[in-house]
Amino acid sequence: MQDRIIRRILQTVALVVALVVQISLPLIYVAVSVADAREMLEFKARMTTGRVAKYVFAQPRLWQYQATRLSEVIEFPGVDQSDIRQSIYAGETDKLIYSTGNALSGPVIAHREALVVGGETVGAVVLETSLFPTFVHTGVIALLAFMLATLSFLTINQWPLRLVARTLGELKDQQEKTSAALLELEASDSRLRERSDQLIKAQELGRIGDWSLTIGLTAPFLSPVAMSLLRLRDGICPTYASLSERIEGDGSRQINAMVVDVVRRGVSAAADVRFRRGDGTMADLAVSCQVAERGDNGHVLCVNGTLQDVTERKEAERQLEALAYYDPLTGLANRSMFQRRLAQALKDAKESGQSSTLMLIDLDRFKEVNDSLGHAVGDELLVKVSHLLRRIINNEHFIARLGGDEFAIIVEGDPFTAGIAAIARSVVATLGKPIFLGRAEVLIGASIGIAVLPEHGTDKDEVIKNADLALYRAKDMGRGRFVLFELSMNEIIQHKMMLARDLRAAAAEDGGLEAWLQPQMDLARNSVIGFEALMRWNHTTLGYIPPSDFIPIAESSSLICDIGLWILRDSARMAKKWIDAGGPPYEVAVNVSAAQIWQTSIEKDVAAVLSESGLPPHLLVLELTESLLADHAEGRVRTALNGLKALGVQLALDDFGTGYSSLGYLIQLPFDKLKIDRLFVAEAPRSLKGREVLQGIISLGHGLGMKVVAEGVETPEELALLRAFGCDQVQGYLLARPAPAAAAFAFALKTLSTPGFSLPEPQASETASAA
Ligand code: C2E
Ligand code: MG
Ligand code: MG
Repeated sequence: MQDRIIRRILQTVALVVALVVQISLPLIYVAVSVADAREMLEFKARMTTGRVAKYVFAQPRLWQYQATRLSEVIEFPGVDQSDIRQSIYAGETDKLIYSTGNALSGPVIAHREALVVGGETVGAVVLETSLFPTFVHTGVIALLAFMLATLSFLTINQWPLRLVARTLGELKDQQEKTSAALLELEASDSRLRERSDQLIKAQELGRIGDWSLTIGLTAPFLSPVAMSLLRLRDGICPTYASLSERIEGDGSRQINAMVVDVVRRGVSAAADVRFRRGDGTMADLAVSCQVAERGDNGHVLCVNGTLQDVTERKEAERQLEALAYYDPLTGLANRSMFQRRLAQALKDAKESGQSSTLMLIDLDRFKEVNDSLGHAVGDELLVKVSHLLRRIINNEHFIARLGGDEFAIIVEGDPFTAGIAAIARSVVATLGKPIFLGRAEVLIGASIGIAVLPEHGTDKDEVIKNADLALYRAKDMGRGRFVLFELSMNEIIQHKMMLARDLRAAAAEDGGLEAWLQPQMDLARNSVIGFEALMRWNHTTLGYIPPSDFIPIAESSSLICDIGLWILRDSARMAKKWIDAGGPPYEVAVNVSAAQIWQTSIEKDVAAVLSESGLPPHLLVLELTESLLADHAEGRVRTALNGLKALGVQLALDDFGTGYSSLGYLIQLPFDKLKIDRLFVAEAPRSLKGREVLQGIISLGHGLGMKVVAEGVETPEELALLRAFGCDQVQGYLLARPAPAAAAFAFALKTLSTPGFSLPEPQASETASAA
């Protein structure tokens, strides 16, 4: 609309300008030209009149008849007078005396000048000129004016229009932008409104309310959400004091301290408190506080913050804490809780001088039960043990399961009373008896290490380490006992730990371990029939270490399985090499630890060793001790031994008579040989009873269809008795000490090449190096 009006106005202006141009230019031209012509006529008329007057004065009577002369008088030589017509009139009658040229065409303008001579008008001079050329020029000018008018019309009409159009376009753009911005503003405004609605909803959902407190007022402002969180009645504004009363414990002190801190230091702060709601239920609240307003002098005028209901989270945290501090299997405290309790005991010892006792309990054969009967039975056993321990301490002391088969008891009070020893003794005795489980009856036993605090350590780690050393000592002394920590233990046990570390390295690097051989002689044939492989460890700095020192160390970890496999492989390889070298087919007996049966797939290992070495299976004898035959391992042992028998190897029951073994069980196992322990051999010459026992064992072996081997034969008397009782084979210092393979084979060859070989005299020592 506006646009159209402006367009109209502009068109009108353009038209007016065009008309002005069109009309004014020719008119001005005509006016100026006519005025010019008039002026020119006047001037020329005066000139002509002057000349004519002079002539009339000279010829007052005749001039009227002398037209020719007059024509000369009025001529302007050299000047083109073709456009002017001059006429001279005489007298009052205006008698034409003379006139130049013909009549003029077109519109004409004329000027009459009186001819005055001697004060008397004698006639007149008339000059005329045609306006025709002027009109012609005016036509041209009008044409030019038309062009100019058209041009100005178009220019005025179009240019400003374009300008206006552009301006209008810009304006429009601007307008559009403005309206878009307005729209955007509206949208963000509605978004903002939406957000704040959402925020309120989120606050309700997230259970967050606002509060503020103007310094100096007694009642804080609480938002509706805050009021509903606290379950306080609407309309009643609670005071700061009444709210504080509802806060549990020292929570209100914390809140006061927080507000004071915010006001003084201008920081933000937060505190968690437990709050008794309006309906009497308890809520956990997280309260935050910050500065809301300051006065001109910078002093805080108002503080505000949020309060969030975190009851559910806190509840979950409390449950998590229960999970984090208790062992889910047994329900006893776990290691984390134990650490806390121990730290508390140490703190008490430091602050009030009250000492405590730490007992670390380790089940002796738990691993074997777990490995042989499965984890479910293992778990059942742990639960049973935890019940037994609980019963012993009768809820009077702290008890925890530290993990695996490790338990701990902390007894507060005088550590040197009989009570402590009674507890330890009771634990050892109770766990030393068979334990009845759903599907099995197991015999595990327990060892206990005891440390007293603060005497045996002023920090947790030290106390635990020392109780652990005592435990190690208890196990080392044969398990099933309790040992109180002593300072001297440290050194012994450190040494053992060092040995364990070095042994692991020796086994891994295949360096330092050697398999020595001790010959075994067949008494009927009177010749060597084989060897027992006995491990020797040549330690880099300590020299030869006897197996009695390092085998128990290896047996306390899986290291025994590694070194057991190593000697098996080495012995089989040596025996086969001997046969390949043309030697007689000697048996080689290798000691196998119970752990190798329980923890490894011994059948597979032996099969691999046989196939690698190429040793005929019947030449390999595996020596197993009675410790293997613990009741709980029956299934696994039976399977393993049958598997080994199926490979064609021989099995020997080592150290017979020293351990606990059920004869009924023994009968069922596929042993080929029974090795009588040295104790029975040594006792025989000394007493009748000894001889009877020895004879009984030999008969028993034979009765079970086994060959009987006597170990540790040192004297000819012992040998004579063994022969007399029908023992099949002997092994002992009387015959030969264990020696490196080459020496052992050389000895065996000597017995072969010596017809009627008789046993040598007992040797003084094994070898110089092995002593
Ligand atoms: P063991 O299997 O009963 O081996 C017999 C032990 O009696 C050997 O002690 C041997 O040197 C010793 N001995 C042999 N004849 C006599 C004698 O006339 N008098 C005396 N006093 N002792 C004699 P060693 O070599 O010290 O081995 C001790 C134990 O260490 C072995 O008893 C065996 O249980 C264990 N052992 C040795 N080598 C290995 C092994 O490679 N693997 C496993 N698992 N245990 C091994
Ligand atoms: Mg042996
Ligand atoms: Mg033995």
